[in-house]
Amino acid sequence: MQCIFCHNDSSTSKSIEHIIPESLGNKDHYLHKGYVCDECNHYFAIKIENELLSQPYFVSMRFRNEILTKKGRFVKEKLFFPEVKKSSEVVMCTTEDGCIEAVVDEELYDLIEAGKTKTMIGPYIPEPEYPNVIMSRFLAKCAYEYFLYNMGEEKYDSCVQELLCKGSDILKSLREYARYGKGEYWQYNQRRIYSEGDVVLNQNEALNYEILHEMKFFTREHKRFPNGYVEAEVYFVMAIAGIEYSICISDPNISEYQKWIEEHNGFSPLNDDAETLSFSLSNINPMLIKKDDDRIHR
Ligand SMILES: [Zn+2]
Repeated sequence: MQCIFCHNDSSTSKSIEHIIPESLGNKDHYLHKGYVCDECNHYFAIKIENELLSQPYFVSMRFRNEILTKKGRFVKEKLFFPEVKKSSEVVMCTTEDGCIEAVVDEELYDLIEAGKTKTMIGPYIPEPEYPNVIMSRFLAKCAYEYFLYNMGEEKYDSCVQELLCKGSDILKSLREYARYGKGEYWQYNQRRIYSEGDVVLNQNEALNYEILHEMKFFTREHKRFPNGYVEAEVYFVMAIAGIEYSICISDPNISEYQKWIEEHNGFSPLNDDAETLSFSLSNINPMLIKKDDDRIHR
């Protein structure tokens, strides 16, 4: 077996490669061991994913959306209690009856009990710093892995053969940018398409669920030739906690995608007609960021 990133032998590798890290709540989208070798898996975990997840937006987003760590723990955030001029690490969790509970240290608990403090102040970070090279390489990694994942398991091996073959290594630039940071900076588009905590009703499946992340490939056709050939560009479009991130899989330029959004009044390729907004937890929990949040940009 060979690794799809470095092409080295990966027969003895043990890592399962999660397309989106488990610490962002992904349990379902992964590649079985061997497709990405231990060394590449480790590189992405340390140099890309840990870097990304330690950015203030992601710490804050995981805290307020109660996304558990890989080990199943809540993410802590430092909040400020102005009446007693004290900062403390807090964990937040929603109880079964829909109350939002904050877990604080003993000293603070006593102060709250005694009615000495009633307010807590947390950071307001509505989106990741943009543009951001770590995010760009993370998207390149996800797009490359999703290309294989999207083929369906029964086609993995034939797809891997293609990706490993010199003549058909069509995503070489994307792969080398993700793994080695080679080549020019790969642009991406970032925008909020829905609020955090939106719960949608899927009419086809009669199911209510919250979309933590979703992804797909979106093809934008440029030209159709008389012989039936089509000129097109393929974009990897992913949303995490309501923010859409898009990258082209063959070109570091994103302007054509941005033009397409403009021509389609801000429509997102991730939009699914079967899904309608059922309710939003952002109406209950003021910490969650709304789509048209204007708490700062008034
Ligand atoms: Zn490798």
